Amino acid sequence: MLYTIAAASLAAGLPLAYLLRNSLCTTMAPPTPAQPIRVVVIGASCAGSNAVIGLVRNFTQAQVHVTVIDKRGHAYYYPASPRGVVSKDFIPKIWVPLTHLFDKAKYDSSSLAPRHVVVQGTVSAVDAQTVTVAETGQVYAYDYLVVATGTTFASPYVQDVNDKAEGVQRAQRYTSALARARSVVVVGGGPTGIETAGEILHSYPDKKVTLIHGDDLLLSSALPEKFRWRLTQRARDFGIELVLNDRLDFQPEDVSQAGGPEERDDLPYPVRTFTTRAGKTIEADWLISAIGGKVETGYLDAWFNSADKGTPYAGLRDDKTHTIKVTDTLQLDHPDLKHIFVPGDANNFPCTKTAFRSNFQGQNVAKNLTVLINQRLSGKSSGTPKLSPYVDNINAMLVTLGPEAGVGIMPLGIIVGDWVVRKFKGSNMTLSRAYDSLNVTYPA
Ligand SMILES: Cc1cc2nc3c(=O)[nH]c(=O)nc-3n(C[C@H](O)[C@H](O)[C@H](O)COP(=O)(O)OP(=O)(O)OC[C@H]3O[C@@H](n4cnc5c(N)ncnc54)[C@H](O)[C@@H]3O)c2cc1C
Repeated sequence: MLYTIAAASLAAGLPLAYLLRNSLCTTMAPPTPAQPIRVVVIGASCAGSNAVIGLVRNFTQAQVHVTVIDKRGHAYYYPASPRGVVSKDFIPKIWVPLTHLFDKAKYDSSSLAPRHVVVQGTVSAVDAQTVTVAETGQVYAYDYLVVATGTTFASPYVQDVNDKAEGVQRAQRYTSALARARSVVVVGGGPTGIETAGEILHSYPDKKVTLIHGDDLLLSSALPEKFRWRLTQRARDFGIELVLNDRLDFQPEDVSQAGGPEERDDLPYPVRTFTTRAGKTIEADWLISAIGGKVETGYLDAWFNSADKGTPYAGLRDDKTHTIKVTDTLQLDHPDLKHIFVPGDANNFPCTKTAFRSNFQGQNVAKNLTVLINQRLSGKSSGTPKLSPYVDNINAMLVTLGPEAGVGIMPLGIIVGDWVVRKFKGSNMTLSRAYDSLNVTYPA
């Protein structure tokens, strides 16, 4: 399925006028090139949309033409998804429309060049000049490419579907089914698992909620200990039963799904006994996995490893993590592929993967692309322009325990509690800010 924003600009008769104009332009001096410089962006969530918004305000559509390709045709905002696990009304809002992505573009109304477009489609192949969309087979040529395909997380955070209506329906079925569980075990004490456990206990104080984590404090050991300690205490006080320093091995079929065998009319659900590695037994009728996600870069594999080219790019995609190797300017780490940028979860930049950082990395890409494109428009092809490295100096994190509680760490290591977390995150899980950044009114 494909849709375009501002398709009206391609009304009948335009191609001829456009060709005419372009042939005249060949005699004109820069900064308007004969053909707009083509930028293709794959993925329009945090990293991709920030790259696009930062770029399109700097150039007219006659200078730069942007094609955004996203398989969901929406920005699915993961940070808000733990709330969707308990609130059916909240679920549709997590799919943020891309309809206003170009509202702040520097459009030149006198130009007949085509306006930027959003294409809903799944990229299945990429090479050094083109991107192919699976559903239509359409090939998009580019001068610069932004790969921002991030990570896919499994249910309950998002169902493996690209269509909003279907995704919403499935998620709402999950939420209804979970509501009928009596005891829930959440595996994984990172921010996702903690927030999920907090949401469930806030909405259903009568449910028993157990959270299993492999370390003696919640979160990763990369984070400051005093923050982890405060959050662990607060989660316990909140009523979450913590099983620390332990692991639960489970099979994919153990993860509860709406529509699975446990969703029956003859309630209650059967209670299952789970045994941890340390031998502790936990009885629960619902299991949620909050561990890991799958980095979405498989469509680069064929190109990076194509044997006929002597595999010149082998190793650019990490075999284990599936992240893409980048330089500190977030360009592909290969001298021939400096026209490709990879911001966000999809890259191997050494930092914790967060929406927050993906936004900043997207902005950094917009800045560097602007420098490269300006050099090209100026006609000066010699000399490498100075690009800005991405500097990871944002050390802040807020972890909610339902809409009203939580613990956070701010710059300078300041620990904050319920009031700050509620004010800046708990009320809508920062979803309203995601709407603002995509120029859309938040449906409060
Ligand atoms: C449950 C949960 C809670 C989280 N909470 C927080 C939080 O509170 N704060 C925080 O900072 N971070 C949080 N994160 C992490 C954060 O969501 C990610 O770091 C962030 O979404 C990464 O942004 P991204 O743009 O790189 O990738 P993504 O958000 O994963 O976006 C990738 C985009 O690419 C598209 N795409 C993928 N493959 C293709 C393809 N082949 N063709 C076309 N399009 C494609 C997808 O549809 C998607 O729109 C959370 C994550 C989860 C799972």
